[in-house]
Amino acid sequence: MSETNPKLRAELAGIPTYKPGKPAAAGGPAAYKLSSNENPYPPLPGVLESVTAAAESFNRYPDMACTGLMNELSDRFGVPLSHLATGTGSVGVAQQLIQATAGPGDEVVYAWRSFEAYPIITQISGATSVRVPLTPGDVHDLDAMADAITDRTRLVFVCNPNNPTGTVVRREELERFLDRVPADCLVVLDEAYREFIRDPEVPDGVELYRERPNVCVLRTFSKAYGLAGLRVGFAIAHEPVAAALRKTAVPFGVSQLAQEAAIASLRAEDELLGRVGSLVCERTRVVDALRAQGWTVPESQANFVWLRLGERTVDFAAACEQAGVVVRPFAGEGVRVTVGEAEANDIFLKVTEAFHKEL
Ligand code: PMP
Repeated sequence: MSETNPKLRAELAGIPTYKPGKPAAAGGPAAYKLSSNENPYPPLPGVLESVTAAAESFNRYPDMACTGLMNELSDRFGVPLSHLATGTGSVGVAQQLIQATAGPGDEVVYAWRSFEAYPIITQISGATSVRVPLTPGDVHDLDAMADAITDRTRLVFVCNPNNPTGTVVRREELERFLDRVPADCLVVLDEAYREFIRDPEVPDGVELYRERPNVCVLRTFSKAYGLAGLRVGFAIAHEPVAAALRKTAVPFGVSQLAQEAAIASLRAEDELLGRVGSLVCERTRVVDALRAQGWTVPESQANFVWLRLGERTVDFAAACEQAGVVVRPFAGEGVRVTVGEAEANDIFLKVTEAFHKEL
């Protein structure tokens, strides 16, 4: 065999591989997975039925235009079909957005720490990441983000609520920020956790998109709708951007199973949003308990909480795992813990209680 390997793009050497949340070990002590912000509820029977029916024809390619799902989304959000695009999870759509806007020499601005895929998909496009630190309170620093925009900035992500801190930006500051962004720079409001927001001051990105041609909203079926394993997300954007998303899409990237499950989920929205309501109650319970134990916890509007543990992060994650829950450590910074089923949250709270006493 030849010793020579195929030539790869040099930039790839500097790009980390996306790390998924650690799974719960089967039969091991860590029975609950709180590391990927998933929905702990199993699929609704009606959604399962729609997938089973679709499975009968998986010898065929899916409907590449996602016609049924696009029609449902168009009705649900009151937007024209030409302003919608679907993709392989919202991370797939985010990647398509960068490919459509930014190449070598161009800049993509986002807060840091934020969703770990942003730097990866930016670098894959050959564009340059411009990371703007969160405020000391772990919130987007929108003034600094506006200051960071140059004439090479093609796209800005605003992750609202922010992963992994759960914090939000509110209407007034977001509008003020959008007023400062040049009209030729795309602002992507990543609203993966939108349905978990209860703060009335947080605007619905879809309202902002209606008023501003350079605003695009990113949503997913993975979180509130519980379809993480089926990979379907979508964008609401003005026509030129939505059309560009169709060009940068991987052909047939949304399976027929995913399309049917997403349609069935939209039709069962009341029930699914009821589950979200229960998770929001659990979130309140968890945050209140953490604060009662003495922890400083940023206000989370998502289905996870953020504990700034600094150097103790990895030890804490190991203690959680030992106790039965897998969480998501960001070494040297903190842990992100999904709000899951009550039993899992109770285990987590026992660990935090013991750990805080040792601090
Ligand atoms: N955006 C944010 C902020 C996320 O946290 C995630 C998932 N962790 C995604 C997008 C991507 O989700 P999906 O690809 O499952 O739609």
